[in-house]
Amino acid sequence: MSSNANNKAQQHKLRMQKLKKNVDEKIAQAQQEKGLLLVITGNGKGKSTAGFGTVTRAVGHGLTAAVVQFIKGNWQCGERNVLAKLGVNFTVMATGFTWDTQNREADIAAAEKAWQVGKDLLQDKSIDVVLLDEFTYMLAYKYLALDDVLQALQNRPSHQHVIITGRACHRAIIDIADTVSEIQSLKHAFDHGIKAQKGIDF
Ligand code: ATP
Ligand code: MG
Repeated sequence: MSSNANNKAQQHKLRMQKLKKNVDEKIAQAQQEKGLLLVITGNGKGKSTAGFGTVTRAVGHGLTAAVVQFIKGNWQCGERNVLAKLGVNFTVMATGFTWDTQNREADIAAAEKAWQVGKDLLQDKSIDVVLLDEFTYMLAYKYLALDDVLQALQNRPSHQHVIITGRACHRAIIDIADTVSEIQSLKHAFDHGIKAQKGIDF
């Protein structure tokens, strides 16, 4: 090896050693165990699929999970067909899209009913992971009281993980969350006249 190449290899080795030291130190520091509140928000595609992916990951490790889907009662998603067979309980809000129903009172009644199931799950120590899919809209439309939601989330069993998905997540939820991801849309097929595709979009 030329002395120049030798020098470069040596520099690379030193950089990697430093990086490894940093990563090892961070891993050693991260010792706390707790139930996490995850938020997946933003306008891009992938929020619900990430939520269901996390539930699948948890179930794969033998954890228990349950799903409450807000808003999209008439929207059958493929994940349900798989996860229900693995013992994941699904509750689906009994209305369709809000722009279909156009009935605020009926929407609120349906939201409260689904939220009651969510609240029961948030008190159930036997459930390790709760997915509240499309939950953000319940606060954005003021269908549910913010204080009640915050209280239920904060008083849940200490080991329980909760995942909330939906656009425009309320600031107060983001504030109490542990991990928040915002998915940005760069492009979506729907904008170019392509209808929702089975297995990809639902
Ligand atoms: P997914 O369920 O595919 O993970 P999502 O949960 O991020 O999507 P939602 O806002 O819940 O997105 O919308 C659900 C449906 O709308 C899906 O069929 C999805 O493909 C579609 N969709 C998501 N983002 C966009 C977008 N930016 N433009 C148009 N359609 C979208
Ligand atoms: Mg979604």
